[in-house]
Amino acid sequence: MLPREFLVPPAKPFPTQGRSAEDVMAELRQRKHGDTAWQGGRSPAFVFKADNAVDTLGRDAFVEYFAENALGALSAFPSVRGLEQEVVAMALSLFHAPEGAAGFMSTGGSESILLAVQACRKRGRARRGDPAHRGNIVAPETLHPAFDKAASLMDLTIRRVPVGADFRADVAAMEAAIDADTILLVGSAPSFPYGMIDPISDLSRIAVQRDIWLHVDACVGGYLAPFARALGRPVPEFDFALPGVHSISADLHKYGFAPKPASTVLYRSAELAACQPFESNEWPAGRFMTTTAVGTRPAGGVAAAWATIQHLGHEGYCRVAQQLLAGIDQYVAALRSMDGLYVVGEPDLAIVAYGAHEVDAYAIAKQMAAKGWLPSLLKRPRAVHRMMSMLHVETQGEYLGDLEKVIQSVKAAGKPEDSGLEARY
Ligand SMILES: *Cc1c(COP(=O)(O)O)cnc(C)c1O
Repeated sequence: MLPREFLVPPAKPFPTQGRSAEDVMAELRQRKHGDTAWQGGRSPAFVFKADNAVDTLGRDAFVEYFAENALGALSAFPSVRGLEQEVVAMALSLFHAPEGAAGFMSTGGSESILLAVQACRKRGRARRGDPAHRGNIVAPETLHPAFDKAASLMDLTIRRVPVGADFRADVAAMEAAIDADTILLVGSAPSFPYGMIDPISDLSRIAVQRDIWLHVDACVGGYLAPFARALGRPVPEFDFALPGVHSISADLHKYGFAPKPASTVLYRSAELAACQPFESNEWPAGRFMTTTAVGTRPAGGVAAAWATIQHLGHEGYCRVAQQLLAGIDQYVAALRSMDGLYVVGEPDLAIVAYGAHEVDAYAIAKQMAAKGWLPSLLKRPRAVHRMMSMLHVETQGEYLGDLEKVIQSVKAAGKPEDSGLEARY
């Protein structure tokens, strides 16, 4: 449940008189003081960092296109359209898309997922000749809730299939869950909870055999996995090189290291992509066409994503991935060496969760929170979860030092007390 104060805000009168810009800015800066110090790696997610130069460029490019509106990309701002098309084309090339593939930018993973599910439903209905068909989605239980949101908006059902002992999608169980109304299969690269890439090549085989749309949710890993592979890491295939992959969502505002909002939603063919845009000609102002769920959207997100990709290039992303993944290797090794801790599964990229054998992981999280490290938690198993970028690698020594102390303290406390914590995003 949403906290009540979120629904019903505390009373605040509309200001009768304005205040100076300095005064207003000073108040904004002041208000941040109670927030989680993400700059020091204290937020387990939400903010990503490659390096300072990338941050600065992203900010500059965003501000350069601060006023422009990507809703006007087809009319007033051809430059925005060009930038968006280039971002999409570069993404398609990165993900080994075949000739004639297409795609769009959106404001984030949730929107990319919403759009892909909508495109899939539209095509499924057209192929069935049933404009009211209520299909189902077959996916591993680790599926991001953005799909539940999409399903709830579009009156679809989701069949969540338990993952295997390795925390990856159980392909045989997923296949058994398919029926005549299944319109979509989904795998994640990687899943948010465990940071492991599902066996997309097996899902692709089933998608081809059964002629079902396969979406790969590479929101979190899309712009990291290709570079990890290029560095020789054992990252499983997940992209359009696999023939059953119909669409991919990949967020630039995560490991693309671009400012928010920026995501890509990509399709194997123009025919599939054509199911995404919305068009209406019902009102007096004539034809209205958008490629996204939202209308007005910041062109800054488009320009900054373009600028970030241009600045880093394949080589730069590999350099960042090398630094980040080497840091995470050290983190994982340190966790594994701590008495009583274990790492959940075999993380493929930059999401790592750890649990504890004898004590409650939530008790550890609670004491870490008291030291300023905002926890992210898993329910199954009870574990502490972090989606790591250079912000976390740079502050890793401090984190691990605090963790050592906390583990001792939790062990010394003996009988487990209720942490009062609940896993939530
Ligand atoms: C972050 C994420 C999403 C949703 O992305 P938003 O940008 O937060 O809307 C979807 N799927 C996965 C696996 C994610 O990690």
